[in-house]
Amino acid sequence: MTDTPTQLFIGGAWVDAADGATMPVDDPATGEVLCHVADAGPKDAKLAEDAAVQAQEEWARTAPRVRSEILRRAYEIIIERTDELAHLMTAEMGKPLAEARGEVAYAAEFFRWFSEEAVRIDGGLATLPDGRNRMLLSRRPVGPCLLITPWNFPLAMGTRKIGPAVAAGCTMVLKPAPQTPLSSLALAAILKEAGLPDGVLNVVTTSRAGEVCEPLLRGGRIRKLSFTGSTAVGQLLLAQSAEAVVRTSMELGGNAPFIVFEDADLDKAVDGAMVAKMRNMGEACTAANRFFVHRSVAQEFGRRLAERMGALVVGPGTRDGVDVGPLIDRAGRAKVEELVADAVERGARVLVGGRTPEGPGCFYPPTVLTDVSAESRLMDTEIFGPVAAILTFDDEDEVVRRANDTPWGLVGYVFTEGLDRALRVSERLEVGMVGLNTGLVSNPAAPFGGVKQSGLGREGGRVGIDEFLEYQYLAVPVP
Ligand code: NAP
Repeated sequence: MTDTPTQLFIGGAWVDAADGATMPVDDPATGEVLCHVADAGPKDAKLAEDAAVQAQEEWARTAPRVRSEILRRAYEIIIERTDELAHLMTAEMGKPLAEARGEVAYAAEFFRWFSEEAVRIDGGLATLPDGRNRMLLSRRPVGPCLLITPWNFPLAMGTRKIGPAVAAGCTMVLKPAPQTPLSSLALAAILKEAGLPDGVLNVVTTSRAGEVCEPLLRGGRIRKLSFTGSTAVGQLLLAQSAEAVVRTSMELGGNAPFIVFEDADLDKAVDGAMVAKMRNMGEACTAANRFFVHRSVAQEFGRRLAERMGALVVGPGTRDGVDVGPLIDRAGRAKVEELVADAVERGARVLVGGRTPEGPGCFYPPTVLTDVSAESRLMDTEIFGPVAAILTFDDEDEVVRRANDTPWGLVGYVFTEGLDRALRVSERLEVGMVGLNTGLVSNPAAPFGGVKQSGLGREGGRVGIDEFLEYQYLAVPVP
């Protein structure tokens, strides 16, 4: 912690906010203040934008191999410092150390993946159908980008945007979530060490997100917004981006259905449920939010899931043997408490958990609810906590209709041993990703993203870099 930067990173230098403001970073396991970081205002944001705009032209001209090698070096440094970065993440965000180490590996992989993509940006040459003209196609960076990230994956949400932006030749202003600024500042220090030129990445930590970001989006110099966060904030930012016609990528909220058919292998389904529900204490956009279980296996599935959930150890993420850390803050926990109380009032039965423990920290126990009413608020709200809500269904058409009956469409999970049914149901789900007999879909080599109100565009995979590139077409007459 002592070496972690706490200032703004602008033009390659560590600086205080212009007005000297700072903001506290809390440890969600104790409620105590870990440290203070600079709290940027609009003036600082403008300086960060100036630095990104100034660096853009030269950065765009850098050889792809140079950009690739910076990312590769940063990947290696992150892997070498896995332990240090994992401790930092656990301190500011709360997830158990084992999960934090997993996130460090996942986050680093975006840099390795995009170091490989940086040297594969292609173009094209063709004779047009009239035979008189040629088309020369090239791809160029979209320009300075604003990157806005949430607190739930403090390192990976940053590398998933910075990796393709660096590979494409874009400069950036990154605004991390105020709860977890330290991982982003540590990442900026690593990229500097890896050789990223000054001004290419600028980091502004702030408690005044709206004041800091809106002028950048409306000002016309930022050419791209890549946002990960809630749908409500995404909608606001889309409206702000419209004025200067800023290109956008939106990774928004989810409301994932987890469907268990009567022919599912229940061992696989329960294993999958533990991952899809409990990764990151349920604080994930990919978290299973609605468990639809066929009536004939619902009781057995609920019993087994409750047994596994009840055996998890809750405590500070730094303690050995802990499976479930605290939620991010008191507001996050209060929301989970309210959703559970509402479901219980409407007839749900609590199979395990459901009671907030005494004492400091934002802990909430792994909870399984069954006989959940379709009218419960948690059916159309992201729970963002360790609560599995089970409903029953009778036939395939019905469950597909209910699974799709939501404005979101990020991910769905399907458990069945029948190949035809697996493919048929997956194709009918209105989602960007499907976990088929698995509870984990995230992988840097796969295109991550949603449909409907879960977002626009994809991150990762072969297409991840496209979000940061524009086409230019040159018309050349055939002599
Ligand atoms: P959030 O409240 O939408 O905040 C996300 C980021 O946006 C934070 O940095 C936040 O800063 C910033 N922000 C809020 N209002 C803003 C404004 N007016 N202008 C500019 N920036 C603004 O979401 P969260 O609670 O941090 O994260 C949880 C949400 O993220 C969930 O909905 C989850 O599903 C979603 N998520 C989606 C994905 C995906 O890939 N689809 C991945 C992870 C998380 P402040 O906190 O200071 O407002």
